[in-house]
Amino acid sequence: MIAACNIESWIQNYDWLIEKQRKYFEPVTHKKELSFCALEVRNDDWTENKIQKYLQLLDHIFNYRWKECNYDLKTFAINTFVHDKDIREKYGFNAPISMDPILFYLIDFEGFLCEEVDNTCSLNKQLYINCYNLSIIPCHRTAYPHFRGGYFEIQNNEIVDIKASDGVNGYFNIILKNPSMGLKCNYCPIKLFCLKQCLGACYESNKDYNIPCETVCNLYKAKFLFLAKKYEEYNVFNYILNSSENEIFIPYIKE
Ligand code: SF4
Repeated sequence: MIAACNIESWIQNYDWLIEKQRKYFEPVTHKKELSFCALEVRNDDWTENKIQKYLQLLDHIFNYRWKECNYDLKTFAINTFVHDKDIREKYGFNAPISMDPILFYLIDFEGFLCEEVDNTCSLNKQLYINCYNLSIIPCHRTAYPHFRGGYFEIQNNEIVDIKASDGVNGYFNIILKNPSMGLKCNYCPIKLFCLKQCLGACYESNKDYNIPCETVCNLYKAKFLFLAKKYEEYNVFNYILNSSENEIFIPYIKE
């Protein structure tokens, strides 16, 4: 994951990852690329300076990818904006793109297009249990006592019951919340593309998990503006819109 706290090292990290993959694993080419978790750590610490460093990383990755695609627009466009696994394979691309840092986040972690870009965290899709005391929590970032839903009761080394905790109301309030429904998100110009926020970070920063962290909003706005300008500058959007096969590209690009 890409965190603000060490963003200064990330260009070096990226080059190191590629070098090691080339050395120890399969050759890295534009068709079989390095895959790593490029999810941004959405803590409220993305200062202007950190965001600038992050944009430099995106620029670095873009330039690397562009070169790997032999500066060919069609190859680059397919590699970056076709998400359908079968179509990708038809063109010989077999690297996963769901965590691609230079892609607009339109795909969830299972590789499905997020039509509404609604559930961008696993909190309301999975059951989290704290192994330390078997308490049922919304997620690792929101495991505060007042958000604990319950716990497993143990007798003679066996689980014999599940009991509600005092925080059960808080638990259900959080897990039934759609992370895309932050108080400001409905009116935000990038709401279709934004990955939205970490509720734990929002709670820690604003004492209210409904209020997005301002610096994370700034990060995503800067990111999508940067990528949109880059794809305009390199004619990628134009190519996609005018391609005879434009239906293979991610639908949102046309919007
Ligand atoms: S930038 Fe902030 S307000 Fe806008 S959609 Fe993303 S999280 Fe919501």
